Amino acid sequence: MNSSLLPTYARADLAFDRGEGAWLISTKGERFLDFGSGIAVNGLGHAHPHLVDALLSQGRKLWHTSNLYQIPQAERLASRLVEATFADLVFFTNSGTEALEGAVKTARKYQYVSGHPEKNRIITIEGAFHGRTLAAIAAGGNPKYLEGFEPRLEGFDRVPFNDLDAMKAAIGPATGAILLEPIQGEGGVRVLPQSYLEAVRRLCDENGLLLIYDEVQTGVGRTGPLFAYQRAGVAPDIMMIAKGIGGGFPLGAFLATRAAGAGMTLGSHGSTYGGNPLGTAIGNAVLDVILGDGFLARSARMGALLKDGLQKLQGRYPDVVAEIRGEGLLLGIKTHVPVAEFVAAAIREKIIVIPASDNVARILPPLIINEGEVAEGLHRLEAALGRFVRGEPMEKRVGGTAG
Ligand SMILES: *Cc1c(COP(=O)(O)O)cnc(C)c1O
Repeated sequence: MNSSLLPTYARADLAFDRGEGAWLISTKGERFLDFGSGIAVNGLGHAHPHLVDALLSQGRKLWHTSNLYQIPQAERLASRLVEATFADLVFFTNSGTEALEGAVKTARKYQYVSGHPEKNRIITIEGAFHGRTLAAIAAGGNPKYLEGFEPRLEGFDRVPFNDLDAMKAAIGPATGAILLEPIQGEGGVRVLPQSYLEAVRRLCDENGLLLIYDEVQTGVGRTGPLFAYQRAGVAPDIMMIAKGIGGGFPLGAFLATRAAGAGMTLGSHGSTYGGNPLGTAIGNAVLDVILGDGFLARSARMGALLKDGLQKLQGRYPDVVAEIRGEGLLLGIKTHVPVAEFVAAAIREKIIVIPASDNVARILPPLIINEGEVAEGLHRLEAALGRFVRGEPMEKRVGGTAG
């Protein structure tokens, strides 16, 4: 297709016209079951009435004022996030990668005002993904994202995944913080064990380091609890969020304890859009639903049901499925076949899943999914897996025109 968009994405030949809950309707009128949620963003599915109401009612009143004035919607969302987490302070951004920038600045400034300006390096973990700004690609360290964009931003040291000895060895006099995703999302749904998080927390406390969690993908109910760290019971000093908190509206934040945020004083950071009335009104509406009675417990149940079904599929298709991973509704199927081919086969079966590294397809349904949709999703995923067993396209299994 002759597109005027910068060609940085390998886009499927598929466009959507509208969405209803866990369903996406293509411009050709075909219905797809959405097990991708726009990469863990649409936690409440598509066109959720409470979010649409918030968008329209705030949209009629006031969109944007800048941070030169009080913003009651942002105050309210910040205090609710503080109430629900380890944090005392919140700064709103428009994306996950900006949350990373703010978290890195906060950690460096903390060490600076604590009398340790030399402790300005941050240890990160191989396979991590923290976004696409210059700091985020340096933090993530993926050579694919760094090539050609030198000079690389200094100050990040990488260690292997889930290797405590390597972590200990990497801590030096210039280390100021450790940054990790409790479950790596883009990295292939790789779960860090609770014992590792506990040990890293201890290392931080013993060495005067801040612990930063990137919960951009794992947060806002995706893994079961509101935040993934709450299952492990190991709190960070700083945390990045985005994706799910806006339900599809661009919104992110970094959260910090009062101590960790000590350096972020008047004038030390800013954002024109960050935390504007429209975005934070929608963030509040997302929390209204997610923090509602029984919501998280119910979506965790759907996650357990889905994971159980995926494990059964692994048993039936051992030549195609190598492993099932993840927690809650952040699940992954590691395939023996190239994951891009599996994702394409899923599209032909009218179900959307998201490719990740390590040859894993991420299964990220909206948190509002019901039992019937879990069953239907498993049915469609099984049909997609079946295509590889026969070793030939099974076009006849789907009605209408294949995508
Ligand atoms: C998506 C993601 C980011 C980047 O978020 P953007 O909104 O795309 O900038 C950062 N960290 C993690 C863990 C993510 O999944």
